[in-house]
Amino acid sequence: MILKLIVFAAIGIFIYKLMGGKLPSIPKKRSKPKTQQPDGDTLVECSKCGTYVSIKEATLINGKYYCEECV
Ligand SMILES: [Zn+2]
Repeated sequence: MILKLIVFAAIGIFIYKLMGGKLPSIPKKRSKPKTQQPDGDTLVECSKCGTYVSIKEATLINGKYYCEECV
């Protein structure tokens, strides 16, 4: 059916105009801010006692790291 094609084209043009002549862009997924990837060897300072512990052993509470003894 050619009529269908015309209708689809019309709708397409309508949407195209509706978007201000711009092609509708798919909003990109917000990529995570590039932060240092914490690996097992990274040392973090305990917020309470100041001891450096590996990130594996540290506990993250409210954005601060604590060693096992201070948790
Ligand atoms: Zn501590």
